[in-house]
Amino acid sequence: MTDAPGGANGAALAEPPGGGGPTEDDWAAAVAAVRSLPAGGRVLLICHVNPDGDALGSMLGFGLGLRRLGVRRLEATFPGPPEVPEPFRALPGLDLLVPATRAVADPDLVLCFDAASESRLGGLVDRLDRAPAIVLDHHASNTRFGGIHLVDPAAAATSVVAERLLARLGVPLDREIAECLYVALATDTGSFRFDMTTPAVHEMAARLLATGIRPGEISRRIFDTRPFGAIRLYGEVLSRATLDPAAAGGRGMVWTYATQDDLARHGQRPYVLEPLIDSVRCAAEADVSCVVKQTGAGEWAVSMRSKGAVDVSRVAVALGGGGHRLAAGFTGRGTAQEVAAAIRDELDAALIDPELPGQPGA
Ligand code: AMP
Ligand code: MN
Ligand code: MN
Repeated sequence: MTDAPGGANGAALAEPPGGGGPTEDDWAAAVAAVRSLPAGGRVLLICHVNPDGDALGSMLGFGLGLRRLGVRRLEATFPGPPEVPEPFRALPGLDLLVPATRAVADPDLVLCFDAASESRLGGLVDRLDRAPAIVLDHHASNTRFGGIHLVDPAAAATSVVAERLLARLGVPLDREIAECLYVALATDTGSFRFDMTTPAVHEMAARLLATGIRPGEISRRIFDTRPFGAIRLYGEVLSRATLDPAAAGGRGMVWTYATQDDLARHGQRPYVLEPLIDSVRCAAEADVSCVVKQTGAGEWAVSMRSKGAVDVSRVAVALGGGGHRLAAGFTGRGTAQEVAAAIRDELDAALIDPELPGQPGA
């Protein structure tokens, strides 16, 4: 299956194999919803709480595309504090952002990016009932909320879905749109290292790079620049990492935690904790890695990764969250040790049996 011929982005965009993605009817419904926007219609773009590169990049890139189509009354927002993490403060399209508390209450069209469930949308969830809502996402755990589903579990990032919809709307890629979509794609593929980095992902990256964006400068800004205090904080947090070799049927679990007091002592904002999981998951002795990050009294944002023996999205869903097979998260309660114990208790049930038919490959 290919996109409609004549897409403005040149060659027809190949759909990834595997099925389960949007049907032609879904795409047609999404295009019709955008095209039937009344003159002066208000569009609200939303993405998940604590937005990452994919949430912000796909939302802002798509918003810039709508602007190119002539949509003037356009707002983008996300639930929670309106603070944009420092690495994303040079993204094109930031002028579209408004605090969630000021977002238009009765939009004519809503587009939702990278959120697997309504629980990730906080108080913005009420907007989904007030207008046609197009949900662009790539989580296998997506609960199929909203009216029009552009949910493709085979897509490496939500920005893959966003690029396809832009192409179907006839919006050509420009440098600003491309930078947003590139940040999204690079974030969710771990800078093109993870297994979802298919030929189609590199083909999309090639289309984005062809607009003239600078990957080295973008990567340095997004992934490789943190305040000095964060380096000292990483040292402390990593030094308390714990290895539990018996967890997950002997596949092993490594985990650490960071408190709000740790952040305060080093004068750091919560976003600096995001890359920690990449250091923790290096431990060769563990299939599963976790970072437990305090967000309030007895409340923790949990990041989990697997190397393939465990489906961490099953652990996350069992504990009230979601995500992907190899990268998932949830909100934990209690002490950090209690949160880690709750994860450990779920690991055996989430072991992937390679002999089982129908299991996704590693
Ligand atoms: P992170 O560890 O924050 O990079 O998240 C990894 C994956 O888990 C992402 O796909 C998130 O969408 C998902 N995820 C993280 N936290 C939650 C949560 N509280 N509820 C649902 N999904 C989550
Ligand atoms: Mn995300
Ligand atoms: Mn994503």
